[in-house]
Amino acid sequence: TTYKLENIFTLVSEVKVLLETQAIMKGINIELDIPETVAATIKCNATQMKQVFINILKNAIEAMNENGNIYVKGHIKANKAIIKITDEGPGIPQNIIKKLGEPFFTTKETGTGLGLMICYNIIEHHKGTISVESNPNKGSTFTITLPLKENCD
Ligand code: ADP
Ligand code: MG
Repeated sequence: TTYKLENIFTLVSEVKVLLETQAIMKGINIELDIPETVAATIKCNATQMKQVFINILKNAIEAMNENGNIYVKGHIKANKAIIKITDEGPGIPQNIIKKLGEPFFTTKETGTGLGLMICYNIIEHHKGTISVESNPNKGSTFTITLPLKENCD
């Protein structure tokens, strides 16, 4: 597969617009901090990459109580673009972290348990990585790393 240079800030901004109503209804603010030096470095399939951010941000909104912030921050480190999505939800217990990305694993009454599996597959296709850290009662951070455009092909 060949991927195109896409501005990741624009892409996440579009996702933010899609989820804004759901976020505003819960008093949740989605804060984007992706400098142009990071935004302009990623080759990807825009539709797929938007799906990744939709799934992770939706989970973040669903996990949180009323009011609070979700942060999407980008930086470059060790020749990789790194995007961190941090929520102020309840966090994820260790026994559940192990199961994330397994198809049909959900703790929600009406969940599909497919969202993160799709994210993991898409990021893998982009030769990136995705990992989760969680602080009980403080929140969760999903970290996506992607190769810089010059290292893509
Ligand atoms: P679904 O949202 O349909 O349950 P996902 O694959 O998107 O499926 O997520 C799987 C499970 O991972 C969720 O049911 C939830 O238990 C957990 N999870 C994912 N993101 C978060 C988050 N930000 N905070 C707390 N739990 C989460
Ligand atoms: Mg989900």
